[in-house]
Amino acid sequence: MTRKPIRIAVLHFAHETVTFLKNDTTLEDFTYPGSPAMGEALLAYDPKSYMGGFVKVAREHEGVELVGVESPLWPRTGTGSGWITTEAYETFLGKMIAGLDEEGPFDGVYLSLHGAMAVRGVARPEADIARRTREVVGRKVFIVGTFDPHGNEDEEFLREADMAFTVKYFPHYDSHLQGERAARMLIRAIRGDYRPSTVTVKVPIISPTVLQWTGASPWMDLVQRALVWEAREPDVYVNVFFGFPFADVPDVGMTIQVMTNGKPPLARTVADDLAAWAWRRREALLQSTTVYPIVEGVRRAKEAVGRGETPVVLADHSDRSGYATWVLKEVIAQDLSDVLIATIADARAIDALAAKDVRAGDPFDMEVGGRVDESAGPPVRLTGKVVGVTNAFGMLWVSVGFGRGNVLLLSRYLTQIMEPSQLKGPDFDLAQFKVIAIKSRVHFRRGFDDSGFARTILLVEPDPPYLGTVRLDGLPYEHVDLKRFYPYGAPQFP
Ligand SMILES: [Zn+2]
Repeated sequence: MTRKPIRIAVLHFAHETVTFLKNDTTLEDFTYPGSPAMGEALLAYDPKSYMGGFVKVAREHEGVELVGVESPLWPRTGTGSGWITTEAYETFLGKMIAGLDEEGPFDGVYLSLHGAMAVRGVARPEADIARRTREVVGRKVFIVGTFDPHGNEDEEFLREADMAFTVKYFPHYDSHLQGERAARMLIRAIRGDYRPSTVTVKVPIISPTVLQWTGASPWMDLVQRALVWEAREPDVYVNVFFGFPFADVPDVGMTIQVMTNGKPPLARTVADDLAAWAWRRREALLQSTTVYPIVEGVRRAKEAVGRGETPVVLADHSDRSGYATWVLKEVIAQDLSDVLIATIADARAIDALAAKDVRAGDPFDMEVGGRVDESAGPPVRLTGKVVGVTNAFGMLWVSVGFGRGNVLLLSRYLTQIMEPSQLKGPDFDLAQFKVIAIKSRVHFRRGFDDSGFARTILLVEPDPPYLGTVRLDGLPYEHVDLKRFYPYGAPQFP
């Protein structure tokens, strides 16, 4: 039997916006070789993630045509920029909507989103994207979105769209899988085999991202509970948004979404179960990870080395610029040895070193890091010797030896080291270090913890509550009343 051909529009618009950063995310940040993308370039842009999963499964179905509608890719700034300007948002969304209109009609639309996009003057961008998509394609066309668990969402998105599939794990291991699901369920819905009936519940819990590691209880148990519901009830899908507290937006906080095949009471039961479980365990959820002040963290690292519990990973989770010098300063003050610090960002230092054609063996005496804002701290004067100069991610990295067997890696931008393998090559051997100090919140656990690499893991942040802090009540929120959330207020729930 030949089936009616299906046309699906594919669009992408994603960012995780740290609204407390001073540099807005602009039109220029989204515009670079390769972005915006359309057609096959858009469909092929991220084969291991949501897009790759979606395209793979959609193309396993006969008679399905995918149309990549011109869309911006991630901004060049990565996650290191603030509010998206209204100009950037309207320009790109305007093009996306015009493209949908011109290239239609479609049977379905796939929106590859993140959920923590924050736009000046637009309270709920993902819901707005869905609403404006709906206006063009009409009520009969199915719309599905994929999301990151750091999305800040409420019931608005699924009021406009039909389905959403959100990554369950942090680190985000299952983005390809959620893309696959989105494709399969969209095609089933178009063919009349799935009638999305959904429920969204906001849970008044706000948590810093560093606590949300799903490799240990109770966050692991929260994921497991969602997986159990999906296993025991065919056609049930559960999304748990942990939320992203560094975006000052009204729909911040935890959110549960449940999808069923035309069973509203079942969707309600499952959503209420997950929400009630999270609420019961709220205290444990907020106590899952200990974060030490820098001085204590470095002291504990030194003690762990003394006990032979190495390698030690010392993660400054809160540095959002990459320039923070707090750990370097304390490593020098407490005279640690055999420490690798990877990395401190300092574009000015990198440019100066490149200009004088720096080479291994050159003496080094410069102030590094700091300066960009108060969260980065003061620059630290470092004297030592250049160990190596290398090209990483298309950019110059300079490694500087100092003290007793210590090495500092200087990079141009914030670099989140997630895997030890990222640290191969810059003219040293990872095995020579007892302590590895990195800038990462949870992503590093993929390569340093889940892999069994590190014997000691210590998370640290500076004393004042800067913008990546776990002390959210130290942040200048304008659109969020923290008193409406546990642990800052005493909200009634359910
Ligand atoms: Zn995320």
